[in-house]
Amino acid sequence: MAERRKFKKRFCKYCEQKVEFIDYKDLASLKFSLSERFKIMPRRLTGNCKRHQELVTVAIKRARQTALIPYIVDRKNVVENPFEIIK
Ligand SMILES: [Zn+2]
Repeated sequence: MAERRKFKKRFCKYCEQKVEFIDYKDLASLKFSLSERFKIMPRRLTGNCKRHQELVTVAIKRARQTALIPYIVDRKNVVENPFEIIK
């Protein structure tokens, strides 16, 4: 699977950038942990550490509530890079 190969390296992106707080409005940082169908990527694929994965999960769920990212994506609307539509 192409999706799996993308996350071959196993390090936490957020630890690397020394991120202490993940803002739900910051979609650029959230998209690391979102699949093309806007599902939260599991930790085993992204390589996030447990602490940051929890921060990301909370941030994504908040972003969904504020309609920044969709809960579900229809089959018709699946595109290669969904973030191009948002911005
Ligand atoms: Zn981390």
